[in-house]
Amino acid sequence: MRIARFSIDGNVAFGAVEGEGTVESGALVLDIIKGIPYGDFELSGTKVPLSKVRLLPPVLPNKVVAIGRNYAEHAAELGNEVPEVPVAFFKPTTSVIGSGDAIEYPSFSEELHHEAELAVVIGRMCREVPRQRVKDVIFGYTCANDVTARDAQKREKQWARAKGFDTSCPLGPWVETDLDPSDLTLQCTVNGEQRQLGRTSDMIRSIEDLVVHITEAMTLLPGDVILTGTPAGVGPLNVGDEVAVTIEGIGTLTNKVIKRG
Ligand code: MG
Repeated sequence: MRIARFSIDGNVAFGAVEGEGTVESGALVLDIIKGIPYGDFELSGTKVPLSKVRLLPPVLPNKVVAIGRNYAEHAAELGNEVPEVPVAFFKPTTSVIGSGDAIEYPSFSEELHHEAELAVVIGRMCREVPRQRVKDVIFGYTCANDVTARDAQKREKQWARAKGFDTSCPLGPWVETDLDPSDLTLQCTVNGEQRQLGRTSDMIRSIEDLVVHITEAMTLLPGDVILTGTPAGVGPLNVGDEVAVTIEGIGTLTNKVIKRG
């Protein structure tokens, strides 16, 4: 099931996406959900065309835990070794935006990069999750763009500003709950031109590895998000660009880059 979060007439709701096609196609309908998607819920049968609503980030995470250098070719393209222990960092909740929202180019950077990533959405409060239980704590998957001020990342030892500025974490367009994430194509285009193309099977650490590693340290809550790293091909974003992250079996997350007003 594809679960979107949206606003209509000032109200926020979750809905199950029905139909085939892109967000822009006008062919999709939302069946409004009664209850909370992470717990017990039912479909209300009340339907609205997706074209009539504003899509919001599909989850409101308590935290986004991101993993760096999880694809060997990407680590190499930036001149980095594959780390012995996964590199983990946070993106704050204020960095999260939805599909169709604008990425605001930060004033302190002149080198903004896209990073297409598979995002894991957690469904249950969990800590110290054993490998064989990882599937039980995952709610679903969505597309992410780990937008990065690459110059600030090189300049500053911690990446809080470089990867945590407002609008640096587009998520969406919805969460797909029925998906085998082990071998999916993920790609990134800028203004329709392909920049990144990879497969999730090329991750150095699997999703199981990452959930075990992260929950050794911290409790994950329903709606928390794990970004699983980006394949090779990262590159610049400029004001006016339209960047799209597409993952097989999920959909396309699209955002425009604007100057911060
Ligand atoms: Mg990344």
